[in-house]
Amino acid sequence: MDGEVLHGSCLCGGVAYRAEGPVRHTSHCYCTMCQKQHGAASGTYANVARATFVFERGEALVTEYASSDHGRRGFCKVCGSTLYWRSTQSEDRIAVTLGTLEPAYTGTVVKELHVDTKPGWLPVRS
Ligand SMILES: [Zn+2]
Ligand SMILES: [Zn+2]
Repeated sequence: MDGEVLHGSCLCGGVAYRAEGPVRHTSHCYCTMCQKQHGAASGTYANVARATFVFERGEALVTEYASSDHGRRGFCKVCGSTLYWRSTQSEDRIAVTLGTLEPAYTGTVVKELHVDTKPGWLPVRS
C-alpha cells in the first residue's frame, strides 16, 4: 500500500509514532531474541522507509536495547511496549511492530523468519 500512513503507539500511550508505506516484508520472527523481548511466540514486524518514521510524542520515553552488534530494539521505558527493530547496517529501513499499529494493520504477514526456533506450543492444540 504505497504512501499509506501508519500510526502506532505504546501500551501506556506515552509514545506515538507515524510512518509511511509502502510496507514491505511483513514477518513473524521466531528468533529467540524476539521471543524474549516480546514475551511471546514471535516478534511481528512491518518494514517501512526509515526516513518516514517520526515520533509524534514521547520520544524521550523510548529506550533502545542493543541486542546484537547491529540490532537495536526500541521500547517504551514506561510500559515496555516493543516499538521497532532497526539495524545499524541498513539505515534506510525500520521494522515497526505490527501490534502497536492503530488502527490494526489490515494487510497480511508474508514471511516467517527463524522457523527453526518456532515454539512447539504454537499453534493452539487441544
Ligand atoms: Zn508506553
Ligand atoms: Zn527476531
